[in-house]
Amino acid sequence: MNAKDKIKLADAQQVGKVKLDKKCRKCTQSICCVSINQKIPTPKSKEDFDHLLWQVSHDDISVFKDADGWFLYINTRCSHLLDGGVCSIYDNRPWVCREYTNDFCEFDESIKDASELWFSTHKKLEKYCRKRFKKWPRRFELYV
Ligand code: SF4
Ligand code: SF4
Repeated sequence: MNAKDKIKLADAQQVGKVKLDKKCRKCTQSICCVSINQKIPTPKSKEDFDHLLWQVSHDDISVFKDADGWFLYINTRCSHLLDGGVCSIYDNRPWVCREYTNDFCEFDESIKDASELWFSTHKKLEKYCRKRFKKWPRRFELYV
């Protein structure tokens, strides 16, 4: 995300000339620009969790819960991120990017480490569902 003001709009030719913030320079994978965290309603019912099972069955989709609630985590690189950690639309980047600071960011603690619950696969989430709901294997009866 390179949220500090020192980082300037750049195009591919400018990469290498741009002064990145010291901390962001160390973050060689530009962690905050290679995923999306989308808040979702708190799942409560078997139907809710069955839907999440479908979502985490897809590549690069996880679901997690932290102090702010439940989120989908989508592991996907921003198309504006240039090699070297430069944002190619820096002056025009979306608000969510502008708000993000590197004071304490994903470089300090990953979202996964900060989360209370993290499910990256169908298998892991289903194990949780079996513990959470007594009659989990009979959930399809809800739909008929
Ligand atoms: S995760 Fe933090 S250190 Fe890394 S690029 Fe983003 S703001 Fe900078
Ligand atoms: S728009 Fe720029 S700052 Fe925002 S995620 Fe993409 S590369 Fe990062």
